[in-house]
Amino acid sequence: MVHVITASCCSDAGCVSVCPVDCIHPTPDEPGFGTSEILHIDPQTCIDCGACADACPVDAIFPAERLGTADRVFVDLNADYYRDRPDAGANPPQVVYPDIPRLPDGLRVAIVGTGPAGGYALTTLIGRTDAQITVIDRLPTPGGLVRAGVAPDHPGTKGVLRTFDLAYRDPRVDLIGGLAIGDGPGAVSHPELAAHFDAVFYAVGAPAARSLGIPGEDLPGSTSAGDLVAWYNAVPGAVGAPPAADCGRTVIVGTGNVALDIARILVSSPETLAATDIADRAVDLLRRQDVREVVLLGRRGPADAAYSDAEYRALQALPDVDLIVCDDAATIAELGLDRPPAPGRRRIVFLFGSVPTEIVADGSGRAGAVDVTTGSISHRIRADLVVRSVGYRGVAVPGLPFDDVAGVIPTVDGRVTGADGAPVPGLYAVGWAARGARGGIGANKAHAVAAVESFVADAAAGSLPRSAATREYFTALVRRRAPDVVDYRGAAVIDRIERARGRIAGRPRIKFTDVREMSDAARSQPHLKFGR
Ligand code: SF4
Repeated sequence: MVHVITASCCSDAGCVSVCPVDCIHPTPDEPGFGTSEILHIDPQTCIDCGACADACPVDAIFPAERLGTADRVFVDLNADYYRDRPDAGANPPQVVYPDIPRLPDGLRVAIVGTGPAGGYALTTLIGRTDAQITVIDRLPTPGGLVRAGVAPDHPGTKGVLRTFDLAYRDPRVDLIGGLAIGDGPGAVSHPELAAHFDAVFYAVGAPAARSLGIPGEDLPGSTSAGDLVAWYNAVPGAVGAPPAADCGRTVIVGTGNVALDIARILVSSPETLAATDIADRAVDLLRRQDVREVVLLGRRGPADAAYSDAEYRALQALPDVDLIVCDDAATIAELGLDRPPAPGRRRIVFLFGSVPTEIVADGSGRAGAVDVTTGSISHRIRADLVVRSVGYRGVAVPGLPFDDVAGVIPTVDGRVTGADGAPVPGLYAVGWAARGARGGIGANKAHAVAAVESFVADAAAGSLPRSAATREYFTALVRRRAPDVVDYRGAAVIDRIERARGRIAGRPRIKFTDVREMSDAARSQPHLKFGR
């Protein structure tokens, strides 16, 4: 038997470098890497050593004989990749050991953001330099979108946090949770941060929703996908709670993976979700709401839909859920959306080629329907909740260059560029913040590695603006500005308490939803003290 890569593959490619027979493709330097949904193991070459499974940060690799029924399809998917590409792996990459130039002593680097991009920048900096590294997050718990965005019923994907957790324990690393960078109360500004470090990496993601640009999208009962996901993932301060009343039908505008995640969560049995780390508030509400149907609107046809095969297959595997795909106006008319799903069943309907033109208020002023044009036919789809899921964009950090059109921090090779297009010394941006909201967890790795290589080259060339500040200066500034910040040990206490609360309820964890409660929990252990 051989090993097989399954749906939760994050394309981190950590498995590629440990495979002794180079049988995992595409590799980061081969066509298709970054756009392929998963990596693939060649069953003809695999020697079943298991090294890749140990290296996989999201537990996506299993011996074929241990796959459950739903994952058996991946045996063929892995093999088909090589059937279609007989030359795959014919020229195994030569191992290139990068030069490690001599860098100035005492470099100090800050990373803002603890999602995948920040995590990969951190692990690369640890491996490639002797720098002291301070990692900052606006929330007390690290993880960024891995904690706040990955669906609660995909626990394996969150395993990548184990890799980053090891990095936080490195004696050269300080984690500061609960510290905002910007110009609000309790925040440290970008100029202050830049003055205290030799270099700053921004890995702040793309937290804002892209707009539909149609009337009614801001009505109550119309929420962005990001707000809804943050709400059911228990992100402190998240808005976007769906209406408490009966929510028989949700209309989602968009057909990307986030849209499919939301559809799956909404029609999943609340009892199934209660076994995950989803927010209690979400399970309680879903129990009352009884979502019977989710309609997804795709502007173009199924071939152009942005969802991955794995996400679609996850919908097909849902028990008691009918999946209906319509891609022409006649079929949509025949479908009869006014007919409820069959008794005892729920329904997910894809309406492709359907352009929303307006979100229409009901008698109470809430979003009550979506007007849609499919081909030459216009129709109105009643909706109890409307979710806008058409992508994300970055948000400007005060004092930092920002491309307002693209919604990103402008960069070249990870170096932040100013209005004149020239790099700003000592300033780097990685992940969605710099390249836009595209690609999954692993796609951030190559980007972060490239940015760190730019930093290494700049440090070796002496082009970093060296800071005279010491670690103690920054610690003092943070204590004055935000005395409730949480360090690594505090974050570990929060983690333990969340798991303990979950154990009592038979769940993996019950997350805190309030920052005040989190910092109190961190301080409930006597050893907590920011600054070692
Ligand atoms: Fe390579 Fe071993 Fe994984 Fe097979 S089991 S793909 S040989 S690392």
